[in-house]
Amino acid sequence: MELKLYDTLTKEKRVFAPLEKNNVRMYVCGPTVYDFAHIGNARPVIVFDVLFRLLRHLYGESHVTYVRNITDVDDKINDRAARDFPGMALNDAIRKVTEKTANQFHADVAALGCLAPTHEPRATDFVLPRADGKADMTTLIKQLIARGHAYEAGGEVLFDTSSMKDYGALSGRKLEDQRAGARVAVDAHKKNPADFVLWKQSSPDEPGWESPWGRGRPGWHIECSAMSAAYLGDVFDIHGGGLDLVFPHHENELAQSRCAHGTPTMANYWMHNGFLQVEGEKMSKSLGNFVTINEALKDWPGEVLRFNMLKTHYRQPIDWTLKSLEESERTLDEWYALSEVGSARTSEATWPRAVLEALSDDLNTPKAIAELHQLRNRAVHGDGFEARRMAKSKARKFRRRSIRSGCSAWTAP
Ligand SMILES: [Zn+2]
Repeated sequence: MELKLYDTLTKEKRVFAPLEKNNVRMYVCGPTVYDFAHIGNARPVIVFDVLFRLLRHLYGESHVTYVRNITDVDDKINDRAARDFPGMALNDAIRKVTEKTANQFHADVAALGCLAPTHEPRATDFVLPRADGKADMTTLIKQLIARGHAYEAGGEVLFDTSSMKDYGALSGRKLEDQRAGARVAVDAHKKNPADFVLWKQSSPDEPGWESPWGRGRPGWHIECSAMSAAYLGDVFDIHGGGLDLVFPHHENELAQSRCAHGTPTMANYWMHNGFLQVEGEKMSKSLGNFVTINEALKDWPGEVLRFNMLKTHYRQPIDWTLKSLEESERTLDEWYALSEVGSARTSEATWPRAVLEALSDDLNTPKAIAELHQLRNRAVHGDGFEARRMAKSKARKFRRRSIRSGCSAWTAP
């Protein structure tokens, strides 16, 4: 079956052709572990889990390598560690925050039915050159300096955006536009306002590593360039993440990787899932509609959350509503009940193809779900009244007892 995927870089849906059929390689940006992941963070995890499963189906389970990193060095983590563990040495506090948050993230996404990625590297393990020779951040930065794509200024190492002819191609941003809006005073040490940090100095109590540019820590973008190269090579098949990562994160990853390795591309397909709103509004703590995966799992089974996410095509914005969740639960209850009474009469040879075809068309999950509804209709109408009666009584029996309290997000009118 032919798989087609939409590529953000070329803005077209193309037939997917992996670089190597026996090793299809995908990288997806993972969480920065300082707080509970919210339901918007669940979207890329679920979407790319569907793609991972589809690739495993099409190419063989052992022929797909999926890497999703954990960002465990970040100023937000430092702030949280200082707040939650006052008096503790910062590096110890950071370890406490990142371990606890990463464990919570794993439990949450497992409850959403997501497979673990093949590799889950932590950024802090890829800052300095490694004993196993895998790519690391300081070596990449050295390569960028040697090739004339980076420079030291104001205690930082910066990527020189003007050294790359087509910088901005992924997001469609032009360097001139960024110059116009730049704050000159802040950026006085930069050659170009769009230049971004590869390495910055750390104060004695901040996390830091000894480097050729003094004791410091990496910028966010260089982490993913190092960890993807470490496990997937200089050029790989698919790079994924949320739409909010296109700029600056993916634009800058792409620039670093191409310029450090001297390759024409970093990944052959760039895939981005759309934004998520809650009850028609942007999710925010101040609006009281901020839902963590963990809170949502107290109210709903993970499969209902997963199904609800997949009713909308991954590139479309999704509106996360109570009504839609209730519908998702009803649908799953009915399908489970029908599969109990009707599985013997369902021709397994005929139904997966339409579903697979839908998924192979740029992960068209709404179409795949529509195909499953068709299957349900055939089962019910084909088997007549008795099957319908049985399905209804089973559905009641199978209905889960969800706890509908304790989540502030659903108390709005
Ligand atoms: Zn990333």
